[in-house]
Amino acid sequence: MNEATLINDAPLLSGLNKHQTGDNISECLTCGVCSSRCSWYDGEGGPVPRQIVRMAQLGLDDLLIESGMLWDCMLCNRCTEECPVGINMDQVVRQARSLQAADKIMPEDLKAGVKNRLDLGDVNGLTQEEFVETIEWLSEEFTDEVGDPDAVIPYDQKGARFLYLPNPRELGINLMHLTAMARLFYSFKEPWTMSSRHTDVTNWGYFIGNDDISRKMALQIVEATEDLEAETLVLSECGHGYFVLKTLLEKLIGRKTKFNVVAMPELTLDMVEKGIIKLNPATLDEPVAYHDPCNLGRKSGVYDIPRKLLAFCCKEIVELTPNREHGVCCGGGGGILQDSSSHKRRMISGKPKADQIRAASVKHLVTACLSCDRQLGELVKHYDLGVQVHTVVSLAVEALVTN
Ligand code: SF4
Ligand code: SF4
Repeated sequence: MNEATLINDAPLLSGLNKHQTGDNISECLTCGVCSSRCSWYDGEGGPVPRQIVRMAQLGLDDLLIESGMLWDCMLCNRCTEECPVGINMDQVVRQARSLQAADKIMPEDLKAGVKNRLDLGDVNGLTQEEFVETIEWLSEEFTDEVGDPDAVIPYDQKGARFLYLPNPRELGINLMHLTAMARLFYSFKEPWTMSSRHTDVTNWGYFIGNDDISRKMALQIVEATEDLEAETLVLSECGHGYFVLKTLLEKLIGRKTKFNVVAMPELTLDMVEKGIIKLNPATLDEPVAYHDPCNLGRKSGVYDIPRKLLAFCCKEIVELTPNREHGVCCGGGGGILQDSSSHKRRMISGKPKADQIRAASVKHLVTACLSCDRQLGELVKHYDLGVQVHTVVSLAVEALVTN
């Protein structure tokens, strides 16, 4: 390594010192436990968390940025889980990504998505007109499908009980998933709507470590929900969307909201437990394994809800080893999935997950995040795992008893 100059008041260290928790990088024991927990540990490349912390501590910001480790980190916090002094890697890496000097290494896809989301309300650049056109077309198909002319897919309905916030994939390459969600809402028999103003559960401001942008994106959703006077904001299955819009929300925007926030698996489970809908537990009669999305599980503490919902749809749930707070990232977190040049790297970062899935000897794998769903699907293909990947809510739709 070239000689490096240590800087006591470097921007990264100063930025981290503004936080109250997880910023205690000066307490790092250099024990290396974090590195041994990282999914990249046995693979080529990837972040070395102990190095990230030491570089931040020593003021070696430029060296850290040049190392390329920042955008390979999946913000999964698996390393943080075992750190003896509780250093929060998510916070350290996002703070480093937010440095002005790190701008030049930010993936172009992330830059474009952030701009689209701020300007248009959707990372893929879907305009309000295109959203309306898509929903009206889908709605016609849906009313025909269920044979009920009143079963429209609604948008901008003031006073509806539920406001559904989809994942951008549901308005693009996975319209079938949105139709499946419409089927569930139809069966709940409660007024629901979507907003044509802000149609995107994701928050790439979080990925790029820019709290101001992340706050702006969250506020776009909060204001749209409050303007429509919805009682409950229902989030599509999205790990980091849940982490930002539920776990961090009030702290991020600095106030309480006038509505509740739930994710679609939680709402569906509630409807099952209240007897409003019924699911067929024989829908999958082979063992099913559940993958914990890092943002939903380890970072938000949601482990049981998806498993409980799954238990209503299938006969046997098999646990991947390890699971829950020790679960292994799918290899696509932290913005790496959103970088279109990342496939090769993600197949390396996802190798431990692929090994876990193979060891579970199951034919079905379920998760509660559409990003994990995509990454797991790619791992299944790449490693020839012979497994079908589902989201827990799409499985619930398959299991829906309609008469
Ligand atoms: S586990 Fe914590 S204390 Fe140990 S090297 Fe990593 S960051 Fe430092
Ligand atoms: S990928 Fe996960 S385990 Fe590895 S450094 Fe990043 S947060 Fe830690």
